[in-house]
Amino acid sequence: MIYLDHNATTQPAPEVVAAMSDCQNRIWGNPSSLHALGQKARALRDAACRALAALLNAPPANILFTSGATEAANQILLAPLLKPGARPRHLVVSAIEHPCVLQPAALLEAHGWAVTRVGVRPDGTVDPQAVADALRPDTALVSVMLANNDTGVLQPVREIAARARARGVPVHTDAVQAVGRIPVDFEALGVDFLTLSAHKFHGPKGVGALVFRDAKTLSPLLLGGSQERNLRAGTENVTGICGLAAAADLARRRMAETAAHTAALRDGLQAGILNAFHCARVNGADAPRLPNTLNVTFPGTDAITAVMNLDMAGVAVATTSACSTANRQPPYVLTAMGLSPDDALASLRFSLGPANTEVEIDRVVTLLTDHLSCHHD
Ligand code: PLP
Repeated sequence: MIYLDHNATTQPAPEVVAAMSDCQNRIWGNPSSLHALGQKARALRDAACRALAALLNAPPANILFTSGATEAANQILLAPLLKPGARPRHLVVSAIEHPCVLQPAALLEAHGWAVTRVGVRPDGTVDPQAVADALRPDTALVSVMLANNDTGVLQPVREIAARARARGVPVHTDAVQAVGRIPVDFEALGVDFLTLSAHKFHGPKGVGALVFRDAKTLSPLLLGGSQERNLRAGTENVTGICGLAAAADLARRRMAETAAHTAALRDGLQAGILNAFHCARVNGADAPRLPNTLNVTFPGTDAITAVMNLDMAGVAVATTSACSTANRQPPYVLTAMGLSPDDALASLRFSLGPANTEVEIDRVVTLLTDHLSCHHD
């Protein structure tokens, strides 16, 4: 199989599987237990904090492990609702956030909150000034992702955070697609909360993290134990956390090399497609993008049919993020950039990883020409 769907998930690295297996086999204690086996498990969890902190330039004490980015984002957005006597306030999100931000935002709205959804420019970027203009005296949070899952477009989160924080408004960034692929510096970004999932950078599924600036600004979503300093109840997924730490170590060591490799292949794929399909358009081409992501509209085609045909030919690609494929709606990220619903439904996402090769990319271009013919070609 030629796997070009790394934004959906990535294969766990052998080092990750080895670290998890070692944890399961030898250090399977409960980190809350006082005895030696429990304390060894706690030490693994604490070492994982240091590994992730080193990748993100964040204080190790300001990391909370969760079941993934979805839970982490839900905790940041929804926990204020659960506070006794909390009054509805105002939230600013970008229109191209992942559903793990957009759906909690809609729930807050249903509970009387005001939500401003800031649109994007045609190149797929959020305008920091538009975010600043949306702020109100009662704004409780701004949430803008670091890299978009569908287009790979990088967002000016640093500028957004500077403007919001100057007005005393905390900022969350969903860094799921960026972590492990490009340098992500929590301190330099100046955000208050950053969320991530291990399986997007060769770690296991079902484990992620929430990085925070000040524990006092967080509330637990899960209640029933004092784990994670009372910020998330439930016995820690130590095995998953060990896998996340191993993936963070690998990412730190290999990121530059992997980014150069995937960027070269991605640029080759883009050039090959544009050469073969004169009607093809690259979404987000004018903006800074993740090195591994390419989103292309092939006007007049049906992307879902293309995905299925390519799958039968041994190539895994996507129409949009895995979470949205079931509903067959035009990808909202693309329509927010100004694409018509038909063009959005004619768009494919190619997301590359370290194991892809030039031979694979050439084969994909050939297969695309076999399976797709867009208007005017
Ligand atoms: N945020 C973004 C940008 C994503 O791409 C994803 C997964 O596709 C998530 C959040 C959710 O991650 P998870 O399903 O691991 O919680």
